[in-house]
Amino acid sequence: MLRPLPYGANYLGWQETPELRQALDNKVLFRYSAPAPSNADLLEAHAAERLGAARALAVPNGTQALRVALMGTRPRVGEPVYIPAVTFVAVAGAVLSCGLIPVPVDVDERFGLDASLLPEGAERVIVAHMEGLVADLPEHVPYVIEDTAQAMGGRHEDGRCAGSVGYAGTFSFHHAKILTSGEGGLVVVRDPADWDVLRSYTDHGSAREQGKYPAFEPGAFYGENLCANEAVTAVQLQQFRLLDEILESLERHYALTLETVAARPGIEVSPKRAGDVKTSVRLLLDSRELRDGALDRLAEQGLPCWSLDKYLLPDHPVVAGRASLYADGFPWNLADGDDRFRALSRDGFTATRERLGRTLCIPLAPELDVENQTLMAKQVASVLAAL
Ligand SMILES: *Cc1c(COP(=O)(O)O)cnc(C)c1O
Repeated sequence: MLRPLPYGANYLGWQETPELRQALDNKVLFRYSAPAPSNADLLEAHAAERLGAARALAVPNGTQALRVALMGTRPRVGEPVYIPAVTFVAVAGAVLSCGLIPVPVDVDERFGLDASLLPEGAERVIVAHMEGLVADLPEHVPYVIEDTAQAMGGRHEDGRCAGSVGYAGTFSFHHAKILTSGEGGLVVVRDPADWDVLRSYTDHGSAREQGKYPAFEPGAFYGENLCANEAVTAVQLQQFRLLDEILESLERHYALTLETVAARPGIEVSPKRAGDVKTSVRLLLDSRELRDGALDRLAEQGLPCWSLDKYLLPDHPVVAGRASLYADGFPWNLADGDDRFRALSRDGFTATRERLGRTLCIPLAPELDVENQTLMAKQVASVLAAL
């Protein structure tokens, strides 16, 4: 087995983690009680600079990052939020948990939200940069949230960092992501005034000074406790310092794999752009049968591979079933029989479903040296050649 761990998880270790040791030596893991600058402060400054944003805010995970970003738009309960039809179900869950209704919008050939399907006057849109592919953003939408959980370090075609262009960008440090602290999340914003609102929401609606009990000003809104802790942000700092090394190694493995996997009738490479993160090589096969066969053969050889079928939200039980723990079905009950909340697709997602069924992804391994990356590319090539 060539790849027991995903991406950044391979790089976890005691080297380059002085902030973790320091936090334990200080015996303070709560960010607002830590000596300034806290690890969370350092992480936020580093992330904002590296990701080309005005400010960054550390939160417990990527789902909360989405929720906090949505709350910062000051929505009315029951309003629609347009989300890609192909993404992780956390996006729908985050929208619903804000009392808003997720409306799936069909995707383009790269599986990015197709902005041409959005209705006139759409106010809130979440675009997800899935599997390293940086999606195009809709224009003239006041609140575009870039879900960058799977594309940390990616760039738009104009060179700006993925996550930095919309109203807010969200990131995840879940175990499976490019950088990891087990769990963890980050919101970045362009406008520092938005950061103040989001920070306050994650700290009970307070205006707080470092080291002090939270202060509540007249007119304070309610909040929650979504504060990131000093041990986790210390690990995130270690991971961030390795981001460029990880991205470069992924680029190398990507190039090696494309060179090695010879063109073969029935298998086409879906090209990635220069700014996409090379988390995987994506292949488009002639039929679902051929794709499923390839998945089986690769798995038999112990080679990592996956499909994106699981991401089709209109077919997902959470979205299709419209169930809720609220006794009255909130917030789905607000959408009952209302056409404004109908999923947006030209063909009932037929083309997308079909394309997903023929898509195969081979995740790449930044932790391997050139020799082992080459070996893995050859093994993949020989499985595909024998199909
Ligand atoms: C992982 C992921 C999330 C959720 O992040 P968590 O940190 O696991 O909460 C959201 N959106 C996408 C696209 C993801 O891949």
